[in-house]
Amino acid sequence: MDHLQRSRLNLLTSDLLNRGTLVRLEPETLSQRVMSDRARFIGIHRMKIAVDDNRHPGPAWLTREETISRFGNCESWIYLGEQNSTFHFALMLEDSLPRSDDHFVGLRALAFHLDASESTLLAFAQALTAWHKRHGYCGQCGTPTIITQGGHVRVCSAESCGTTHYPRTDPAIIVLVESDDHALFGRKPEWPKHRYSTIAGFVEPGESAEQAVVREVAEETNINVLSAHYHSSQPWPFPGSLMLGYHAKATKTQISLNDQELEDAQWLSREEIITRLNQGLFVPPPKISISFRLIEDWFNQSATIPLKKLLRQSGAADF
Ligand SMILES: [Zn+2]
Repeated sequence: MDHLQRSRLNLLTSDLLNRGTLVRLEPETLSQRVMSDRARFIGIHRMKIAVDDNRHPGPAWLTREETISRFGNCESWIYLGEQNSTFHFALMLEDSLPRSDDHFVGLRALAFHLDASESTLLAFAQALTAWHKRHGYCGQCGTPTIITQGGHVRVCSAESCGTTHYPRTDPAIIVLVESDDHALFGRKPEWPKHRYSTIAGFVEPGESAEQAVVREVAEETNINVLSAHYHSSQPWPFPGSLMLGYHAKATKTQISLNDQELEDAQWLSREEIITRLNQGLFVPPPKISISFRLIEDWFNQSATIPLKKLLRQSGAADF
């Protein structure tokens, strides 16, 4: 399987969406699409997504009229693109909107129930909304910025400046380190009980992704990576990362939690994972994440039972 095929198996991204990057430069076409019967809007409020109570739970893709009826306006839209003959828009709702938590749900919870194409739209909408919230003012001169190009660019409103601001994506690495039939797992103190995952961290300025793999693994566990192979990538809009997934090899040496970012790290074999799963002592990362995929691909390489089947048998419903 090549990298493109592997990436296509990751959720929160899909190539079914026609992002229409050139359409963003055509205000008239965008206006027509906003007014079209084929337009659907998804409200985003304080990083939560409007849901349709009839879908249990599912995002509420509303027509323009329904949007105005539910939220009072349909003005702060971002064009996401065209999919299945529908024009999709994100609607940035004011923080001041009275919020009923019953009707807005976080993407992590929603994505469990969605296919790749719908989760892609929501991930895109959430990442752009988060960027807009943080870039209302020009980082160059402090003047308010103006939204343009269908919500994909902000321009400084000061004539003397006019700096153009583009949405940010922050690269991060995530790596499954293996050695002698064992994989390296870590856990952060804030995670749910018994959750263990792969090692991850942001790529620093002036650093290659591979160097970040070596540095992060050493900082968090004191393990020296000997080789690293790219696996696939996944957008992770919490709020704006791109996860670059790797499989790496290391010598199975003593773990030391150097930077204290993890509260525990362990080398676990497949057999140990099976035992812990059956005892309810191992919770993998969410199945929507690339970290789960990295673990799953390693586990299934020489397992008698695939990881997802094992999880279903052990009673893990929404893991
Ligand atoms: Zn400026």
